[in-house]
Amino acid sequence: MRALVTQPGVTGSTRVADVPDATGDGVLVRMLEVGVCGTDREISHGLFGVAPENESELVLGHEALGTVERDGHGFTRGDLVTATVRRSCRHCLACSEGFPDSCLTGDYVERGITRLNGFACELVVEDPAQLVAIPRSLGRLGVLAEPTSICERALRHARAIGNRHPWELQRALVLGAGAVGTLSTYLLRLAGLEVWTASLEPSNDLVTASGARYVSLPGTQLSELGGFDLVVEAAGDAQLMADTLGLLRRSGVACLLGIDPLEQRVELDGRTLALDAILENRVLFGSVNAAREDWLAAVADLDRARERWPDELEQFVSLRVPLDRFEDAFAHQGGKATLVISD
Ligand SMILES: [Zn+2]
Ligand SMILES: [Zn+2]
Repeated sequence: MRALVTQPGVTGSTRVADVPDATGDGVLVRMLEVGVCGTDREISHGLFGVAPENESELVLGHEALGTVERDGHGFTRGDLVTATVRRSCRHCLACSEGFPDSCLTGDYVERGITRLNGFACELVVEDPAQLVAIPRSLGRLGVLAEPTSICERALRHARAIGNRHPWELQRALVLGAGAVGTLSTYLLRLAGLEVWTASLEPSNDLVTASGARYVSLPGTQLSELGGFDLVVEAAGDAQLMADTLGLLRRSGVACLLGIDPLEQRVELDGRTLALDAILENRVLFGSVNAAREDWLAAVADLDRARERWPDELEQFVSLRVPLDRFEDAFAHQGGKATLVISD
């Protein structure tokens, strides 16, 4: 079968290749579409990723949408499904309790990223416990489940941290308007918050359609927007991440989601860290991956968002190309790109 493979660590080695058919126990899933994100680009640039044991190439793709091929394991042929990305390390407390997103060893495997082949291929055999059902009503939008699960986990953790004491979550700022920033904006709007979303472009119709206020970052002093109960950094800018601590009001929580791998130093006013953060009970934390409950919340909330903003949700995926046009998908900016494997 055809698959999008790469040799981890080797820049430019990504190609469409013939790989052996999927075998083994589990649910046979025909892949319809996989989303592409910065992680895929980094792996493809040779910066990230590990091939499965005793193999030199890794099948890419971790943002999956597929359809079940035959009845069994509680599924019916034709069911739409996605699948979790990170799997248990098998020897830590968090993984043993069903939270590989909080793995304590780092020995986990991840579909399409670390030591486990991904979903950018025609057929996959998947453990039924790792599948997540996509409602019919959501259809092809199910391909957004993975990035949405990242946002759901971040917001669940932010609420857990904020709710450690009496707290009112009313005003949120989202930094960055890529897939994760925009999906976070929509989830926060679904929850009824006052949301401000800031990014580089002069305007952003997808953000404003949700009822959030859009702020163009160049020329804006974020500190003049007033304090926030929650700041989500999804821009992947280390300096901006440090700045979030100063944008919080009392008991505010800042969550870092974007990745910035550059070797650099960032600046922070000592008083923001050593005075305000203490006297105002502020918290800065990072979040990665998602637990099963976040996947279920993601699918449910995406469907609610689709009901409320049907036209806008359709615009989240702005480029759909076949597998062999993966380079176009990787180069795409301004919205989510996906690789269509089957119609
Ligand atoms: Zn991704
Ligand atoms: Zn673990």
